[in-house]
Amino acid sequence: MSNIKDVVKAAEGEIFDIELEENILRENQRLANENKRLLAKHGIVAIDVMGSIGAGKTSLIEKLVISLKDEHKIAVLKGDLTTTIDAEIIRRQGVEVVAINTGKECHLDANLVGKALQRLNLNDISLLFVENVGNLICPAEFPLGSQRRIVVISVTEGPYMVLKHPFIFMNADIAVINKMDLAQAMSIDANKLGADVRKINPKAKVAYTNCRTGEGIERVIEALDF
Ligand code: MG
Ligand code: ZN
Repeated sequence: MSNIKDVVKAAEGEIFDIELEENILRENQRLANENKRLLAKHGIVAIDVMGSIGAGKTSLIEKLVISLKDEHKIAVLKGDLTTTIDAEIIRRQGVEVVAINTGKECHLDANLVGKALQRLNLNDISLLFVENVGNLICPAEFPLGSQRRIVVISVTEGPYMVLKHPFIFMNADIAVINKMDLAQAMSIDANKLGADVRKINPKAKVAYTNCRTGEGIERVIEALDF
């Protein structure tokens, strides 16, 4: 059984039923701005981590936590449909983790992130990672209030992952191209994936990693630039 007790569970239909005025996205933006103000008030840098299921979001966060936990007080919000598997993996690194279960919804929204922030002692945190539900489509439309957005893709997802998901890369600060150890076996030109990112978003920084071993993590930290 799970030993994560702190789980924010979305009520049936909650994500689309935020007592909205006329527009779900506008309401989400308002709540994202609130989250942003709350985080800024406590001097917390919040970083979104988005990507498909299996791209390596949790492994990336785990390696970033290992590299950064001596200098920063880290907490992690972990979105998933119903499980707390990833939350447990990250909790093993000795940092505070709040799991957010969305039920059937395939993305986090600013409302659920705001609720999860209430579970943390924000005075005790300087760095917050928010792992979104595995999905490259709707998280692009739901800002959460963070200062940086990382998108992770892996070379095993094929050569067109960037081109097929322009919106999420348009708003990303950093694209992480993961599982570089498998690029040759998959006949993938990772540099082409990086070039695709820059074509969509010339300001995005690109890092090439193997999050299983930690290779390339320093480049991600450098790109985070905090
Ligand atoms: Mg994960
Ligand atoms: Zn969704």
